[in-house]
Order: sequence, then C-alpha cells, then structure tokens
Amino acid sequence: MTPAARYPPDLDRWREAATIAADARELGLRLAVPGARRRDVAEAVESYIRGRGAQPAFPANLSRNAEAAHYTPDAADAALLDAGDLLKVDVGAHLDGAVADTADTVEVGGGRRYAHLVSAVHEALAAGVAAVRPGGRVDDVSGAIARAIRARGLTPVVDLTGHSIDRYVLHAGKSIPNVPGMSDATFVEGEIIAIEPFATNGVGHIGNGPFGHIQRFRRDPGTDDPVLAALFGRFHTLPFTARWANSPEERAALERARRNLQSYPVFLERAGGWVAQAEHTVLVGPSGAEILSTPSGR
Ligand code: MN
Ligand code: MN
Repeated sequence: MTPAARYPPDLDRWREAATIAADARELGLRLAVPGARRRDVAEAVESYIRGRGAQPAFPANLSRNAEAAHYTPDAADAALLDAGDLLKVDVGAHLDGAVADTADTVEVGGGRRYAHLVSAVHEALAAGVAAVRPGGRVDDVSGAIARAIRARGLTPVVDLTGHSIDRYVLHAGKSIPNVPGMSDATFVEGEIIAIEPFATNGVGHIGNGPFGHIQRFRRDPGTDDPVLAALFGRFHTLPFTARWANSPEERAALERARRNLQSYPVFLERAGGWVAQAEHTVLVGPSGAEILSTPSGR
C-alpha cells in the first residue's frame, strides 16, 4: 500500500526558508576569496539569514580541502582563505523549525585544479535529484549519485549521507547514502529531504578530527536553569556554536551544560583526499523531486 502523502501544512515556509538558505549559500561562495577571513565569511552568511527574518539552522560550515564537513570558525579563528583552497559552503536556515540545508563547493581564487571534483558533485546532485520518485527507492538515488562520481574517476564518500528533514530536526529518520546497497527505504510524497553527494580523490571514508565548534542539545534541559532554558528556546535540538552566545552568562551556561550537549568533530577524509560537496533541499512531489534551495530570482 502506498503511504499517505505527508506534505508539511506550512509548505510555503519551507519554500521560503530554502530560498533564503540558497541566497545565503551564494553569498558565502562569493565572499570566499583569497585573503578573506573565514570567520567573517561565516558571520556574514549567518547575519544575512537573520536579516531575511529566518534563523541559521546550524552554524555556517566552512570546511576546506580534506575537511569534509562540520567545521565552523570559533570567535578566535583568524585564519584566512588561500587561493587554491577547496571550500565547502554548507548553509542552513529555518523559519519556526521549517529547515533548509544546502551546500556548494568553490575553488578559492577561481582556479580549475579541482574542477573535476566540483563537476562530479554537481553532476551527482543532478542525477540524484532526477532519480527521486514518490514511492521510489532511495537506493536508486544512491546508485545515480555513485555512478556520476565514478564516471569522473573519483570516489563517493561512503560515510556521509543525505537525509530526511523534519521540523526542528535536521537529520530525521531516513538516510540517503551516496553509494548503493545501503538502504531499503522508499520516498513518501510530501517529504522534505536533503540530497548531498560528496566526492573525493581519496579513499571515500571519513575519520573524526578535532572539535569543529559545533554542538547541539541532546534534549530539552528543562527550566531549572533559566539562561539554559532560553538558549534551548533559541536553538532547540538544532546545531549551534558558542560564537552565537550573546553574553558571558550564556557562555557559562553552555559550559555547565556540557554533558547535555552533543559535540561534533570535524570530519576528515581518511587518506587526506580533498573533498567536494553539493547539496539541495528538495520536496518529494507528485511525480518527482522539486528543488527548493534555488536562489531568489532564478
Ligand atoms: Mn545535510
Ligand atoms: Mn548541509
């Protein structure tokens, strides 16, 4: 039996959040020039999202080269982007928990040394999106992604996957692997999903690096600690960074709550290979995927 369609009742808000996230992604890509301070790029992206009336759904992830994901600058990060860096700009925005998640990769300075890696994830993302059908198999999307990346002589990253998105939940129950043979799931009409191929010239596996300054509440901390309760009211269980704390009291509350927080390590390509990523948030429509994370005016 085909499961009933499950469109969110406020689908317009999901569309709007995705447009804002896509515009923020494009801003981040434009700001990623040689000599730019990566903290400034992250903060510009995040304040752009707030200026559009949304909230960042997670800190702007600016992972570069063999860092595949989950790096955001902390307040002390003074690092500059260098020409030739392969920078992933992974951006999230939400409107009352209607979450969008989108990413692209830029070779800083406009070089073409890693153009095949960037093309591979663009082609894989297009192929993956085109393979989505309501009632269709997740595995068909995974197969299309892996084929497109391997056609470029590159390797899909096995350990990182796309995912379904629920209100205030970035990684909901369903994973969308970047290689076939790992999922028995099917798509349901009305679902919001993120498709995010990663390609590398390394081995295609990820290991944990150092703390990437990203955390999230594992659960509601309750009302005993009012500062903490207010922080949970802002972030819910979505990822955030201590850079967003507005006062020494908030920083202290996060320090006290350490055990209640999940910390994310930076994901590093295990062989030191460089990694490209492209990601769209899409709606599973009546006949296929509709990309939501398209910039405004396109
Ligand atoms: Mn994602
Ligand atoms: Mn993402």
